[in-house]
Amino acid sequence: MATVKSDIEIAREAKMKPILEIGKKLGIPTEDLIPYGHTKAKLSLDFISGLSKKKDGKLILVTAINPTPAGEGKTTTTVGLGDGLNRIGKKTMICLREPSLGPCFGMKGGAAGGGYAQIVPMEDINLHFTGDFHAITSAHNLLSAMIDNHIYWGNELGLDTRRISWRRVMDMNDRALRDIVCSLGGVANGFPREAGFDITVASEIMAILCLATSIEDLERRIGQIVIGHKRDKGQVLAKDIKAAGAMTVLLKDALLPNLVQTLENNPAFVHGGPFANIAHGCNSAMATKAGLKLADYVVTEAGFGADLGAEKFFDIKCRKAGLHPDVTVIVATVRALKMHGGVGKDDLKKENVEAVKKGLANLGRHIENVKKFGVPIAVAVNHFVTDTDAEVKAITDFCHEHGVEGFKCTHWADGGKGTEALAKHVAALADKGSSQFHPIYDDAMPLWDKVKTIAREIYRADDIVADKSVRDQFKAYEAQGYGKFPICMAKTQYSFSTDPNLKGAPTNHVVPIREVRLSAGAEFIVVICGDIMTMPGLPKVPSAETIGLDAKGQIAGLF
Ligand code: ADP
Ligand code: MG
Repeated sequence: MATVKSDIEIAREAKMKPILEIGKKLGIPTEDLIPYGHTKAKLSLDFISGLSKKKDGKLILVTAINPTPAGEGKTTTTVGLGDGLNRIGKKTMICLREPSLGPCFGMKGGAAGGGYAQIVPMEDINLHFTGDFHAITSAHNLLSAMIDNHIYWGNELGLDTRRISWRRVMDMNDRALRDIVCSLGGVANGFPREAGFDITVASEIMAILCLATSIEDLERRIGQIVIGHKRDKGQVLAKDIKAAGAMTVLLKDALLPNLVQTLENNPAFVHGGPFANIAHGCNSAMATKAGLKLADYVVTEAGFGADLGAEKFFDIKCRKAGLHPDVTVIVATVRALKMHGGVGKDDLKKENVEAVKKGLANLGRHIENVKKFGVPIAVAVNHFVTDTDAEVKAITDFCHEHGVEGFKCTHWADGGKGTEALAKHVAALADKGSSQFHPIYDDAMPLWDKVKTIAREIYRADDIVADKSVRDQFKAYEAQGYGKFPICMAKTQYSFSTDPNLKGAPTNHVVPIREVRLSAGAEFIVVICGDIMTMPGLPKVPSAETIGLDAKGQIAGLF
């Protein structure tokens, strides 16, 4: 049997075209692409502004069943479907998130797709790329530095140093920095206080950058950030510290979408990468909106399963950016469905049609849920070499019985050729224009009822529960004028419920709300159900131990 090539081996064999040529395919004049080397470029703001009168293309969301350790392949399928659509003659762009650098040194694995459905240059995309995350880190930490400087010089605003919520960030998995004491070392170093670090993707600046629709909107949102409270509990905002202008300067290039290409030389924007738990988990609104002007179809991915990723894509990103999704593709795999059907990780290679059938309850519920948003659905069965025909048929039959079509997709092994059937169906669904997209709750609904709507309609919980202090916090946010904000749920991605072990389609559960937080710049309310980690650690044997440069100067051990 032929040996299977690794993702990086396949990526290195790519015949990349100069990025200006990829831009030309989309009608972008050379002077409006700002090259970062030969294979990456940013799109100028002037050019983006000039597109506003053009008609929008069709928007296709790729989401998935609840993730399992077996892997689902949303990014791989997003890339594969984009290539498939281009292959059948549809002018298509892909819009993806930028990966975070820190986690690459923990567990092996990139976030630029896999097999023959990847975006390149993959090492760059996974590491420093065009410096967007570094810019976000700098802008975030400028505000942190200005806060401590303000306190040092007399604290005119009367910030209560015990109530400063703005932390520091860096793009590295470093558990040692989760909670720190800063300003130690004597009078010249300020007033000691408790502080801490989050990973850059968890920064509110990241969420803001991904929802901002212009430089002005970016600056306005930064100004609105609540950095802490006074002794009388009054809020202190970033604009009170006079930080918004300088932070916007640091972010002016990071706001521009990054253009790269797939292995099949089709265009992809890779821009922004907010956390999928305490933030909304999808690429920037700037990139998606520009993509819709430049191409007839845009394929984009949302993080985690559809209960979190698609719900936030619809209720936060689409609502806020005025987007109208035309089709949703739900990715399922035989392996993951087997796990939802009760099979352990070690037995996934054995044919087990009964377990697949049992696990289909999870897919079925996601199909019902997405229908509630009024968006037409197709199912992509991301094919693994160990899948049998009988197992795949169990899925496609089930889809058919539920009024949607499922397709075996072999893009991981075959590239765009492997998604042709799905691509034809998706294009036809999009062209029919039958999407009746609407968010699942109205802006005007009380915050508590918004959360209850998500829990009942999407998670199928009986109710939500919270201590009085949490319920009072919802009321306080409403009194402060934040009641119109959408909800950003932070819960386990592994289950519809808040218990990661409840696979399949659990019922008779309640959703306990532990904490509620305000992201005033991102303009959403974060509702936390369970333990949420905003600064990951490294595993016992981090992949950093085996990463290095080989004799040719190429990166080894990364993927
Ligand atoms: P997600 O976006 O859902 O997190 P990815 O698309 O990033 O998932 O895929 C996760 C990993 O699984 C990648 O390393 C990818 O190469 C691998 N993978 C995806 N699809 C397949 C497949 N059909 N066969 C084998 N490996 C796959
Ligand atoms: Mg992904």
